[in-house]
Amino acid sequence: MRQKLVAGNWKMNGSMQANQQLLENLKQGVTHIQAEIAVCPPFPYLLQVKELLKNTAIRYGAQNVSHESDGAFTGEVSAAMLVDLACTYVLVGHSERRTLYAETDEGVAEKFVVAQRAGLIPILCVGESLTERESGDTEKVVERQLNAVLTVAGVGAFSKSVIAYEPVWAIGTGKTASAEQAQAVHTFIRQHLAKQPQGTAVAQTVQILYGGSVKANNATELFAMPDIDGGLIGGASLKADDFLAICQAA
Ligand code: PGA
Repeated sequence: MRQKLVAGNWKMNGSMQANQQLLENLKQGVTHIQAEIAVCPPFPYLLQVKELLKNTAIRYGAQNVSHESDGAFTGEVSAAMLVDLACTYVLVGHSERRTLYAETDEGVAEKFVVAQRAGLIPILCVGESLTERESGDTEKVVERQLNAVLTVAGVGAFSKSVIAYEPVWAIGTGKTASAEQAQAVHTFIRQHLAKQPQGTAVAQTVQILYGGSVKANNATELFAMPDIDGGLIGGASLKADDFLAICQAA
């Protein structure tokens, strides 16, 4: 049995005051929740989140990481720094980074490896655009994104990672994939991993989250699918009530 995980991706939102309020509310609300819970705030707030989540079961991570280890890389944040701040997770290859900051499959794979080597659990985001879905290329795109990591890290690396399937057309649009559409891609991902030499066990154990307009009113149906192990939540992770309702559904 895979444990469910619900991770909040705050994106570029928050303030010292708003974060404190949100986390205090989450801390109060999570006591009876079974699923693993994590939040991914912007870099400047990681230390605040670390302090506020001390002695709680809520884990946290970053939204991005540099593939470089240290040195003259102005504006970058290394995996070692995230470990220093006791992060558990880091998102790699979120579609906003792929599209707005031109991150390539290979660059994402490099970040995956660097993060894992430092001791972080990478949450590898994959997913197709609307055009790609409409031209029947969903599986091809997801396979290409997975293969970039498989090539450099091997299938075994997925045993210490999380995958998030996030169709780009569903992110922040209010248009979620149906539970059946999401389940189909999650099955495909598991099958693709299982096809790799020594991939069978990993394919069964890796947590695969769904992301893209998950709300309290669609979470139950999505999380009930056999291959959906929780969610990566954007907009709805910024309000404690909404996020807790989604965690409750997991
Ligand atoms: P959304 O974002 O829940 O606001 O659609 C999901 C994500 O980008 O991770």
